[in-house]
Amino acid sequence: MLYEKEREIVLNACRRMVNDKLTVGSWGNISLRTDDNNIVITPSGTNYMKSTVDDMVITGISGNILEGKLKPSSERLMHYEIYKNRKDVNAIVHTHSIYSSVLSVIDENIPAITEDIAMLLGNNIRVSEYAITGSIELAKNVVSGLGNNNATVMKNHGAVSVGSDMERSITASEVLEKSAKIYIYSRMIGKVNIIPDNDINKLRAISEDYLNQWKNWK
Ligand code: 13P
Ligand code: ZN
Repeated sequence: MLYEKEREIVLNACRRMVNDKLTVGSWGNISLRTDDNNIVITPSGTNYMKSTVDDMVITGISGNILEGKLKPSSERLMHYEIYKNRKDVNAIVHTHSIYSSVLSVIDENIPAITEDIAMLLGNNIRVSEYAITGSIELAKNVVSGLGNNNATVMKNHGAVSVGSDMERSITASEVLEKSAKIYIYSRMIGKVNIIPDNDINKLRAISEDYLNQWKNWK
């Protein structure tokens, strides 16, 4: 079996996504770029808690199937388009999480309101334009919604987070959802204060050092 270790990383991230309640049913999907630029991606429409490493699908970055008995995620074009445009990205997590989806429905960006947003996700997390699921148009909208950030909210759909490895990417999903929740609650009870741009740049610099230790988690 090709990429046994990478299949396991993807499956573990799927279970974490379900356990964290970042999606329900078979929605959401996850992929990992291998060292030789192939993609390990979740199968379409399956129950992640019952899936096995064998169910993961291996494709080239243009979509050719290299190994797998199931159909790859219907959102695969989005994954390929991100990998093609972001050389720094090696893992992608797409969720249908609740608070991020609330902001996606009302089309509200998330400013840098807390330090972990600035450190892991970037500055001003944008809502990417709507397009129908699985389309190349959606893929391109998500790439432009991301820009250089590590997360975007997908209008009337869900959220996407990216990272240089799966730990960063799945944690980015968790930070995004937590941030969306904090932003919604803050807006309900008071004035929202945003971290100044100058400090965001400093936090980005600190994060490079801080997140380096994460390699010990793998
Ligand atoms: P798949 O089950 O095909 O991965 O699609 C789920 C989804 O969230 C589509 O946007
Ligand atoms: Zn989706």
